[in-house]
Amino acid sequence: MLHIGVDIEEHDDSNSQELESSPELFLDNEAVLGLNSPNCSQSKSQPDTIKQPQLIHQPELNDLIRELSLPKNKSEYLASWLQERNLLMPSTKVTVYRKRNAELTKFFQFNISKTLCYCSDINGLMLELGIKHRPEEWRLFIDSAKASLKAVLLHNGNEKPSVPVAHSTTLKEIYESMNMILNELQYERFEWELCGDLKVIALILGLQGGFTKFMCPLCLWDSRATNFHYIRKDWPQRPWQVGAHNVKQTPLIDPSKIILPPLHIKLGLIKNFVKALDKNGDAFMYLKEKFSRLSEAKLKEGVFDGPQIRQLLKDANFRKKLKTKELAAWSAFECVVYQFLGNYRDPNFKILVTNLLQAYRDMGVRMSLKIHFLHSHLGFFPENLGHKSDEQGKRNRKRLFPHSFSQCIKTLAHKTNSKTLEFSKS
Ligand SMILES: [Zn+2]
Repeated sequence: MLHIGVDIEEHDDSNSQELESSPELFLDNEAVLGLNSPNCSQSKSQPDTIKQPQLIHQPELNDLIRELSLPKNKSEYLASWLQERNLLMPSTKVTVYRKRNAELTKFFQFNISKTLCYCSDINGLMLELGIKHRPEEWRLFIDSAKASLKAVLLHNGNEKPSVPVAHSTTLKEIYESMNMILNELQYERFEWELCGDLKVIALILGLQGGFTKFMCPLCLWDSRATNFHYIRKDWPQRPWQVGAHNVKQTPLIDPSKIILPPLHIKLGLIKNFVKALDKNGDAFMYLKEKFSRLSEAKLKEGVFDGPQIRQLLKDANFRKKLKTKELAAWSAFECVVYQFLGNYRDPNFKILVTNLLQAYRDMGVRMSLKIHFLHSHLGFFPENLGHKSDEQGKRNRKRLFPHSFSQCIKTLAHKTNSKTLEFSKS
């Protein structure tokens, strides 16, 4: 066991930067190691033998640096500091951390068409990161944006770092791209739960995109039968038959592996709420003023992001501008966000959701797919939504692997896509 770890282990990420500026920390460790201490041979606990320092091997040093989440420059600083004091085994190299990303990029390769950079050995990558990969503890998050398509493994409970496993800057957001990502990541072998926005989920399940009659991945809810919205709760279960009920292609994964995304449910709830607000009323005018950078079109469509929703939820002035029915709906939305869609699930969450649906109906909010999930599929939400969220907040920022690694994979994908780099498997 590494003696120097005794004192340092208690320092978390936020304290790691103190290493450079806190020589006391090392002095303490010297004491632990029994170095430079005139009294060490006279220690009462070691009366007969002089405690020899244990020289540090490369793997031990690597583990320590990983535990401390040190970036490249600080890793090298710590290694040279130990080397200067002859505390490293002769074979231990201090410059190895400059090339640390290379240790991880060896687990990545490109597909034949060089459109996707992906991890070809997930167990190996996890092991390199000091993690034993148990697929049931992880969920695969596929994030699709205009400029990139990426896949990241997120730890359920978010205690372990998120691990980027695929990245592309050229693949389009289509069924075939999802198929390629899942194939290259050997999804059939690991069968993680999967989260993503509803568009990604629809693609993976082979559903036709856009506003279709049967858009729910779980049942045959008729999105166009507005007379039944907020009234009919039970709809027939979806049969997965290609060609019927907007199923265009064979589902790529077992639909039961899908996790409904809480962040997107929130975004959907606020979107339809804002769309139903009186556009000449005080509340909408207040939103225009508060989010002056948002275009009027976006505002009317209620397109907000997570931080903007949080900002609005804290804003007492916004509440004051709402009319009676709007305020009832907003208050119900607040309750559902805090007591159902986050880390905490209120024992009465079903009542809270029912209140929300009633208030939305009274206010004249149109039912969307996301509102339908709350109406018809409450049992489908995992027990602790915060643990399996699609929201990558502060809890996910803890990284045990190099800070620049994610960027490195991104850069590799960019370079290869622009054909400036020939990536070899080595
Ligand atoms: Zn449904």
